[in-house]
Amino acid sequence: MAKRQTLLSVDALTKDYTMPGGNPVRVLDQISFGVEDGEFVTILGPSGSGKSTLLRIIAGLVTPSSGEVRYLDQPVSGVNPHVAMVFQSFALFPWLTVQENVELGLKSRGLSVKERHERSLRVIDMIGLDGFEGAYPKELSGGMRQRVGFARALVMEPDVLLMDEPFSALDVLTAENLRRDLLELWLEKRIPTKAVLIVTHSIEEAVYMGDRAVILSREPARVLAEVPILLPHWREREDVRFVRLVDQIYQTLTARPVAADSVFARGRPAPVPAVRAGSLTGMIELLDDLGGSTDLYRLADELNMDLEDLLPILEAVEMLGLGRVREGDAQLTETGRAFAQATVLRRKELFRDTALTNVPALAHIRHQLERHPQHRVGAESFLELFERYYSAEDSRSQMETLIDWGRYAELLAYDQETDQIYLEAETADPKAVPGSA
Ligand code: ADP
Ligand code: MG
Repeated sequence: MAKRQTLLSVDALTKDYTMPGGNPVRVLDQISFGVEDGEFVTILGPSGSGKSTLLRIIAGLVTPSSGEVRYLDQPVSGVNPHVAMVFQSFALFPWLTVQENVELGLKSRGLSVKERHERSLRVIDMIGLDGFEGAYPKELSGGMRQRVGFARALVMEPDVLLMDEPFSALDVLTAENLRRDLLELWLEKRIPTKAVLIVTHSIEEAVYMGDRAVILSREPARVLAEVPILLPHWREREDVRFVRLVDQIYQTLTARPVAADSVFARGRPAPVPAVRAGSLTGMIELLDDLGGSTDLYRLADELNMDLEDLLPILEAVEMLGLGRVREGDAQLTETGRAFAQATVLRRKELFRDTALTNVPALAHIRHQLERHPQHRVGAESFLELFERYYSAEDSRSQMETLIDWGRYAELLAYDQETDQIYLEAETADPKAVPGSA
């Protein structure tokens, strides 16, 4: 196949929004992809992931915090003249007729009244609204209003048609009809559009319509994968190849670490025993010296400790997947033994991996730090989350433990002066952390 020309591309787009409390939150992080001439590209991502923001940036309606949009390799600034957008909600002017709504955008194009009429009537006819030119929006069904939305974009004859979940406000049958009609216009080249970029949260819609799916993660949105969809049109949802693609994309979308972000949304997080990393490593070394497994009473004796004081340490070792207590015996896991025998650096790596997997609260803190543009968050904001479920004293103790573990594993740093948790420059690269998408 001949190399096709890249029509539109986005290069390392990043967008931060300032929240009402003044905190910046990163919504898009370094998004890059291209759209080729003749291509129908879908952008798939969970609700709230930043898809509308991305499309608005491409249309030039929102300014990115960094990165750029390019058209035929030239940077585009301001409103992008090569695109037109179909929105999810119809947003028609109720006091204008169908034809007047459709013609509106043409006024800035310097066309004669006659030309405007001709062009709009042609598009109205093409989109299946023939006979409704003089109707007002309130006289139309939802499906027909959205057809006006399409007509309004198509009459501009954009090179790239942008669509933001254009079928999601419609009932199933109406959506399916409109999808088919649009795809037919595109496949039969009845519209001069050179490329289509549609945002959706429906995997089936993406596989039904597109040539390629760009899959976004959330909080912040990053490109997780680009999946080519090479099935010939018209596609059948029952086709095994269709089902397989849907399944593959579903796995990509969900193959993320335990949604660290929702730790607190799901309820009380598991309490973290108040044990310093130093005590943990000491315990693991001792257990290893004792052959990797020993009777609890012997252990208490060896350490000259009460069982009561010993148990939280073992609980922490267990929580981290480094050991377990079974029938009065304390024993190390494989990872625990590997840890005991590892170098200092390797120990930190093992601890980092196991802590991110097994201690959701710590994964949550790390995740928030990565999301934050300055990679710096007040410890107080995490404390508040704990205080929804624990006493003030227990919350503080858990935060202290998590900070201590996080510092030991070099997952985070802590500034006592400002009570802020932050990422040190060399550990701020999220790619350096296993399991963070
Ligand atoms: P999607 O279209 O994928 O559902 P959006 O792009 O609409 O996602 O929103 C992504 C995130 O950005 C959401 O958390 C939303 O609340 C936030 N957001 C969107 N627009 C603004 C804005 N103008 N100011 C602050 N936050 C915004
Ligand atoms: Mg949206």
